[in-house]
Amino acid sequence: MRIAELHLFTHDLPVKDGPYRIASGDVWSLTTTIVKLVTDTGVIGWGEACPVGPTYAEAHAKGALAALTELAPNLIGADVLPVPLHARMDSLLYGHNYAKSAIDIAAFDALGRSLNIPVCDLLGGALTNRVASYYSIGVCEPDEAARIAREKVAEGYPRLQIKLSGRPVEIDIAAMRKVCEALEGSGVKLAADGNRGWSTGDAIQFSRACSALPFVIEQPCNRVDDLRTVRPFLHHPLYMDENGRSLATTIEAAGTGLVDGFGMKVGRLGGLHPMRAFRDLCAARRLPHTCDDAWGGDIVSAACTQIGATVAPERMDGVWLAAPYVAQHYDPDAGIDIVGGHIALPTGPGLGVTPDETLFGPPVASF
Ligand SMILES: [Mg+2]
Repeated sequence: MRIAELHLFTHDLPVKDGPYRIASGDVWSLTTTIVKLVTDTGVIGWGEACPVGPTYAEAHAKGALAALTELAPNLIGADVLPVPLHARMDSLLYGHNYAKSAIDIAAFDALGRSLNIPVCDLLGGALTNRVASYYSIGVCEPDEAARIAREKVAEGYPRLQIKLSGRPVEIDIAAMRKVCEALEGSGVKLAADGNRGWSTGDAIQFSRACSALPFVIEQPCNRVDDLRTVRPFLHHPLYMDENGRSLATTIEAAGTGLVDGFGMKVGRLGGLHPMRAFRDLCAARRLPHTCDDAWGGDIVSAACTQIGATVAPERMDGVWLAAPYVAQHYDPDAGIDIVGGHIALPTGPGLGVTPDETLFGPPVASF
């Protein structure tokens, strides 16, 4: 089965009850790029790439569209199977994994639909149909963070993450203590996400001040070398997120024992095909990880849930979705939601969601 047509759409996703606050800035609205792939047999697959603004990662919305416009004309006639498809994409453009991810997801969707099986089957098979999620508490005052933590535990979330940094580390320490107090006895897992914003000194000070409290520290500092620097001085397990830019980086981080787990984004690795390899690599080293993407609507949500369902629950740190911040589903009947801190695995073929194309307006480019 080969790619016969590719259509690119852009669509605005205003942040519901915004802004979403992370160390790199406030997010009020995001532009997502959507791919409609039509095969030579007439099957349609959908993909999506939605960087969370221009400063979270080396990715931005206009870059996604530019990279897809560079790739798309030379993908007409390409095989939709993941190995030849990725080889073709890599021969056309170096890097820009987040754009390639949208094509990869659309191809998996089309493959699943043509075989009448869900994408999780193409990825090896689901281990659960109720995928754990986690809630991310944005940067806020300590009492507010504790209030949100209590609320989300009551909703049923098995894990929480709190965004930190970008302010005096003493406030981060106070927020962490309040959140841990709020979670005591709940059994809910917790991550402290520095989002690259701490200095090495801040990270060490934070961990030392909270040494008796149970949580993991995610991406405290900017560079892989910074993680190496702080690692021996931390009192908490260390996770890599933003620095895990490719399979090669993650193999090295896992293989050298630099980290105890990962926050991982499907888009950052380049789609579900490399994410499957990452999943298996983590399984071989017994490393827990998440299966997220930076942002996006039902298409990205479905893709993350499909791969998330194939991760052994004991290594699953959750599928984070932007769904609570996105006002409108693309699929009016089978949109992806988090209920009780968990996501139901879609039941239809492919990704299991069928976008209402009229929401996106006319394509910005067609090939
Ligand atoms: Mg993170």
